[in-house]
Amino acid sequence: MQIDNQLCEIGLSSTEISRFKELMNAAVAHRRAHWEKLSPADQEYWALDMAELARDVGIDRLYAGLRKAWTWNKFLASAAEVRECVPPVPDVVKPRATHDTACPDCSGSGWKFVTRYSEFYRRDERRATRCDCNTRPHRPRKAADAADAAYIAAKVAELDAAFRMRPQRRPYQPKAASSPSPVIPIVAFTAEQIQRRIPMEREEILRCEKQG
Ligand SMILES: [Zn+2]
Repeated sequence: MQIDNQLCEIGLSSTEISRFKELMNAAVAHRRAHWEKLSPADQEYWALDMAELARDVGIDRLYAGLRKAWTWNKFLASAAEVRECVPPVPDVVKPRATHDTACPDCSGSGWKFVTRYSEFYRRDERRATRCDCNTRPHRPRKAADAADAAYIAAKVAELDAAFRMRPQRRPYQPKAASSPSPVIPIVAFTAEQIQRRIPMEREEILRCEKQG
């Protein structure tokens, strides 16, 4: 527990701490003879130096560095030696635990609100949830300058003018009269024809009901 607190103070999250410990166990297993020669204090220093390296470069790059270090070093590599072996930062950096201050969802707080809807699209509830912008590359934030201020002022003036403008009046225009002849001609049935159609219509209704 003691070591967990120290790792936490260094700045590793609980997930990172468990991965870090696995990694350190593997590293020690590779160079057990050397590890056992170290005093407990030196062992602790070694682990804490590695934890700082993990914080700086991330667990994945630390792992790659360790692997490279133990291929050419038959002793337990120090954090400084492993740092030399850490691969360069990949193009898409995965920032650790830092939220984007320009994030439209959380503004860097790390929390965002989501509204859940029930199945009838009725607004159900609004709850705070963790924002995942720390796993994405951050948006570049442009500092507002005089050009931006001028643009905003112009836009505000334009909108003011638009809202002040009265809706234009148009003279009353009667609707065009509907065409006198209907498109579908109305067929007038005689009473006799209607009587003849009744059984046919019933049959059709029954047939449809059976199908449906
Ligand atoms: Zn966010």
